[in-house]
Amino acid sequence: KASTMLVKNNALIVVGNLSAAKLVKTKMAKSVLDAGFSALKTMLKYKCENAGVSFEEVNESYTTQTCSYCKSISSSSPKGRAGLGIREWQCHECGSSWDRDINSALNILALGHKRLAVGITPI
Ligand SMILES: [Zn+2]
Repeated sequence: KASTMLVKNNALIVVGNLSAAKLVKTKMAKSVLDAGFSALKTMLKYKCENAGVSFEEVNESYTTQTCSYCKSISSSSPKGRAGLGIREWQCHECGSSWDRDINSALNILALGHKRLAVGITPI
């Protein structure tokens, strides 16, 4: 099962709260997408607790448009409906070039680490 393999292969799992497409640190995005996402999250959380793995769910609202390197929201980053077709972009603030999904995944992971650091209870 995808959820069991995810837990076995990671010490920390961070998921965005909007879609499975940005599930961080996994090569199993497709099997995740095929499962019901909320059911999968519930199961993941349960398995993580049993296995001593940290599980974090974070708000991914701005993770697509925020540069994961300099944390600024560049005028060139993907935003709203018009930004849906943008797959690759360059941050005008620091010059980093991003694949949309990788940048977003890095932001989600950073949010998960931040939450662990301050010890906020998962949603
Ligand atoms: Zn930047």
